Amino acid sequence: MNDIRPVLWIVIPCYNEQEVLPITAPMFLEKIIQLAAKGLIARESRILFVNDGSRDRTWEIISALSETDPHYLGISQSRNRGHQNAVLAGLMEAKKHCDITISIDCDGQDDINAMDEMVRQYLEGCEIVYGVRSRRDTDTWFKRFTAESFYKLMNGMGAEVVYNHADYRLVSARVLEAFSNYHEVNLFLRGMFPLVGFKSTSVYYERHERIAGESHYPLSKMLALALDGITSMSTKPIRLITGFGCVVALLSFIGVVWSVVAHFMGVTVAGWSSMVSILCFLGGIQLLGIGVIGEYVGKTYMETKHRPRYIISEKTWEEKSEGPASPPDIG
Ligand code: UDP
Ligand code: MG
Repeated sequence: MNDIRPVLWIVIPCYNEQEVLPITAPMFLEKIIQLAAKGLIARESRILFVNDGSRDRTWEIISALSETDPHYLGISQSRNRGHQNAVLAGLMEAKKHCDITISIDCDGQDDINAMDEMVRQYLEGCEIVYGVRSRRDTDTWFKRFTAESFYKLMNGMGAEVVYNHADYRLVSARVLEAFSNYHEVNLFLRGMFPLVGFKSTSVYYERHERIAGESHYPLSKMLALALDGITSMSTKPIRLITGFGCVVALLSFIGVVWSVVAHFMGVTVAGWSSMVSILCFLGGIQLLGIGVIGEYVGKTYMETKHRPRYIISEKTWEEKSEGPASPPDIG
């Protein structure tokens, strides 16, 4: 029988996840087997772990897993490059071997049962399916507030992102082929996929708490991601600064007229405090403006270097011209 069901590769970035992997890896395997049994995906589907330069036993665990079951595969980045680069490395590797990919975190926070619906949407003709969080009850008030402000700020600043979608998504190999022509080094995947186009839709799921281990996204990293997202996807902040500069210049001009008029009316008081506050205000605006411009200059600098976005140092399988050996039949 000719198998027309799509080959799925689940791409999972892992950074210092020795506590979580032994728990979640079998869950992903079970999901693949279940999806294949339902006839939604081909049996040659795989789970690809991307070790993002972990300092703990993560890579040993991935290597050991790959020996227990041929569905498990792993690649290792030469060093820690961050979540976005790890996902990209996995997707670019996967697209050589499969029809569809699903990227998901390895900590069990995203509901793997949403994959059924994602694959169904693909079979209906969608090439990108965004996993969208339906509720944030399990997040702390602070995480929820900062995350939701983040999406609003992003959209307000002109970076098109799907509300409450992180990096849990199905993307077809065809889209990834088109995506591989986006060469930027400053990655913000969730903002870049909407730019590629193709038919897309969303699937809703509930996000759980981390099964084990600690989050690698403290507030500082979240702020960095937000700043990267905005400045990689849009130049609106520069325009805002320009607009703001115009308003301040106008106000200053009125101030100058006022002070001259006041001088001739003879009501010159020792206006030390007003002088200082105006000086501070203008100084602040100027520094802010320089900072925003510097952010873009820095980005341009990084982009012009054309450095590789990821370097794969190890794989759990021998690369042959036809790719990895196919797993034994299931059931
Ligand atoms: N991750 C990674 N490289 C990093 C940081 C994180 O590959 O430098 C992975 C991590 O192993 C996890 C995913 O990215 O699978 C999301 O990280 P985490 O769960 O810590 O973030 P949160 O869910 O708290 O936002
Ligand atoms: Mg997490």
